[in-house]
Amino acid sequence: MNQPIPEISMVIPVYNEAVHIARSLLLIEEELKKLTYSYEIIVVDDGSKDATWQQLAWVGEHSDHFTGLRLSRNFGKELALCAGLEHARGQAVIVMDSDLQHPPALLAEMIRLWREDGKDIVECVKVDRGRESLNKSLSSAIFYNVLNRLSGFDLRGASDFKLLDQKVIQAWREMPERNMFFRGMTAWLGYDKAQIPFEVAERAGGKTQWPFHSLLKLAVNAVVSFSSIPLRFVSLIGLVFLLGAIILGVQTLYQKFVGDAVTGFTTVILLLLVVGSVIMISLGIIGEYIASIYNEVKGRPRYLVSQKINSEVAPAELGF
Ligand code: UDP
Ligand code: MG
Repeated sequence: MNQPIPEISMVIPVYNEAVHIARSLLLIEEELKKLTYSYEIIVVDDGSKDATWQQLAWVGEHSDHFTGLRLSRNFGKELALCAGLEHARGQAVIVMDSDLQHPPALLAEMIRLWREDGKDIVECVKVDRGRESLNKSLSSAIFYNVLNRLSGFDLRGASDFKLLDQKVIQAWREMPERNMFFRGMTAWLGYDKAQIPFEVAERAGGKTQWPFHSLLKLAVNAVVSFSSIPLRFVSLIGLVFLLGAIILGVQTLYQKFVGDAVTGFTTVILLLLVVGSVIMISLGIIGEYIASIYNEVKGRPRYLVSQKINSEVAPAELGF
């Protein structure tokens, strides 16, 4: 496979977006064609259950610079992104959502900042979260505040709409973790950054694929992989309780020696309940870290590709 290295690789994860994916990709490609750079578009089908893959096959037949990867099941957006990034060959990689909530019109400015101003990372920052439910914007505000306090990385407004230079991708490849949180990883990497504020557009069609439990899982993953402060917090609670125990212990002993030691049933029950729940929560926090270590130690592949389309190469060369 001796394809020339494109200047830009687009990486787009998709999950159950059959209703609009062909049209959305066409619009993105139109925007790229306006610019003078060579490009490839890598779309990762994250185990969609609708006709997304068939749509992508159609796109593959009508576009010259298209690669489609079909994951063997739904691995989640983070790992779908990972699959795309590992297959990207371009001098810069642009990651974006497939639902046009990330406006393709910004691509020109992103590439300009990289090419002309020499920025290594160009990130688009949400100034307005679009028409999100109050519930979602509130929970993401809480999440980013907590993460900021715990990890020191300010990700408020961060999106996955980013351009990364080849050298940043190279550095990212050195991060072997299975527990991926792309936004946090790029913040951790550092490098010379530029930001472009943008307003989140309406979804091109279909609806968002983030049920509450997936968001919660992502939030826990992000905290566990970017901070060990919760573990120290467990020791801190332990110390606070030790202090309480010493005070109560002295008081109880005193009462015993003075001779009026029978009262205090309610106190005992309350203390039992409080101490019990604190122990449970602490074990839960430690458990999250152990689960994360276990996942890393197993060393399974991060994702599996079951099918591949490449419009530049004959199917036989792909080995499928
Ligand atoms: N996505 C994915 N795997 C998933 C869920 C979502 O690849 O398990 C893709 C989805 O197709 C879209 C992007 O990730 O291109 C963002 O998802 P969505 O629009 O549902 O999230 P939101 O914009 O509400 O944050
Ligand atoms: Mg979206």
